[in-house]
Amino acid sequence: MAHNEAVDVVLVGAGIMSATLAVLLKELDPAIKLEVVELMDSGAAESSNPWNNAGTGHAGLCELNYTPQAADGTVDIKKAVHINTQFEVSKQFWSYLTKKGTFGSCKSFISPVPHLSFVQGDSGVSFLKERFKVLSKHHAFADMEYTEDKAKMADWMPLMMPGRPADEVVAATRVMNGTDVNFGALTNQLLKHLTSAPDAQVKYCKRVTGLKRNNGGWTVSIKDVNSGNTRDVDAKFVFLGAGGAALPLLQASGIEESKGFGGFPISGQWLRCDNPEVVKHHQAKVYSQAAVGSPPMSVPHLDTRVVDGSKSLLFGPYAGFTTKFLKHGSFMDLPMSVRAGNIGPMLAVAKNNMDLTKYLVSEVMQSMEQRLESLRRFYPEAKAEDWRLEVAGQRVQIIKKDPKKGGVLQFGTELVAAKDGSLAALLGASPGASVTVSIMLELIEKCFPTKASGEWAAKLAEIFPAREKVLETDAALYRKINAHNNVALELVEASNETESYA
Ligand SMILES: Cc1cc2nc3c(=O)[nH]c(=O)nc-3n(C[C@H](O)[C@H](O)[C@H](O)COP(=O)(O)OP(=O)(O)OC[C@H]3O[C@@H](n4cnc5c(N)ncnc54)[C@H](O)[C@@H]3O)c2cc1C
Repeated sequence: MAHNEAVDVVLVGAGIMSATLAVLLKELDPAIKLEVVELMDSGAAESSNPWNNAGTGHAGLCELNYTPQAADGTVDIKKAVHINTQFEVSKQFWSYLTKKGTFGSCKSFISPVPHLSFVQGDSGVSFLKERFKVLSKHHAFADMEYTEDKAKMADWMPLMMPGRPADEVVAATRVMNGTDVNFGALTNQLLKHLTSAPDAQVKYCKRVTGLKRNNGGWTVSIKDVNSGNTRDVDAKFVFLGAGGAALPLLQASGIEESKGFGGFPISGQWLRCDNPEVVKHHQAKVYSQAAVGSPPMSVPHLDTRVVDGSKSLLFGPYAGFTTKFLKHGSFMDLPMSVRAGNIGPMLAVAKNNMDLTKYLVSEVMQSMEQRLESLRRFYPEAKAEDWRLEVAGQRVQIIKKDPKKGGVLQFGTELVAAKDGSLAALLGASPGASVTVSIMLELIEKCFPTKASGEWAAKLAEIFPAREKVLETDAALYRKINAHNNVALELVEASNETESYA
């Protein structure tokens, strides 16, 4: 009987998640044999492409929805602190890799761009003031500045202040050491670095079409999208890093843990400006508040983007309703994902989220003039001829069973793993690429627990001298790690005080 090809690990999809996990596993075990399978003809063709996401190095510095305000006015900073330290974990991995000759320069994927929050009206200002008061006491946010001074704001955001009513009530915060990340360039650098090692392959134009349990692992069916030829590969471990399309593959695996999950796809659009005369006046990522009743992914922001050595501005996102799970997917994706086990939660979410669906449909129906009106709330003197509409990536939000409501919509990410640790999938979309390394470390601890605490422990400690929990509470260690990462990633110049932890 002919045997299938065999590898240790198959990773489905060549986005930032699979690329990160593959490189991490190869660092931990150089002898590991792995294959990344991608249906498009290059890496980072879906959400990880730089124009399909906003490229914000999410660190909780400017995203107002990470610091919710309670009815009594108190601001909860837990989420912002957690995401900030997760981003420091990502930076530790990228800093470690930049020392390797085969990884390339960090300048191609990470750039220093200040992160600002901007609010309008009395309630916005009192929220921002309270947020600043609480956040700036934490060591991760100690450098945050606050102002209600319009002259200062005009200096921080030269495009955003001219043309506003003289009596408008506004306020802003600024953190200078924010970043813009080209997650597409990062993904492709990771993949190139990966394939410079033996026994690590990336196969393009190949679609994973099926998954079957075998003795101790999985048989993965792979179809060549050009020739239609198929092959089966046996793997001890499978990662479903297929972005929005991870859900149908998880369902195809039939694992018990997949039951009850559904997906709610949300599309996106941006306004993009490449006019250098406009672009040069905005050097920041400025986040504001979402309109009342709109979902968290519709928080508007005006961003400097640094992609392939050029600067542009991006404004949005404008969310929309779709039934596709990938930008290059099929309108049948959503209907084909309905199962006996998830129809209850999906119907409950449809019934309880009519406002969201209405909002998304109204966003899709907007005219260019209406989109420009939203932009002018940020940049009052924006001219239509400088801006064009771009289609962003898809976000498939998670629908989950809920004992009380039947089903709930979740805006974060969730790692779903088989009990025996032989397969894992990443569902959801946010905060996404910035925290990839923490998510993949969680996967390693969940699916390879013995190795993570045994033979891989020393290497993990070498790459990650400090993980999220300790960075949240140890101010001195945070400052040391942060300073080291910022120098290693060329975000700041080295000073004599910068300590090395290597
Ligand atoms: C509008 C928008 C804005 C965002 N902004 C930010 C941001 O500012 N900062 C941030 O950190 N994150 C952001 N994100 C989130 C971030 O982009 C994603 O979390 C991240 O890119 C997901 O990476 P991934 O590898 O899981 O998926 P993807 O990059 O989508 O990769 C999945 C890959 O799997 C392939 N694939 C699918 N099915 C198969 C199959 N059957 N066989 C083989 N291959 C398959 C696809 O072709 C694709 O290449 C944003 C996302 C969106 C949509």
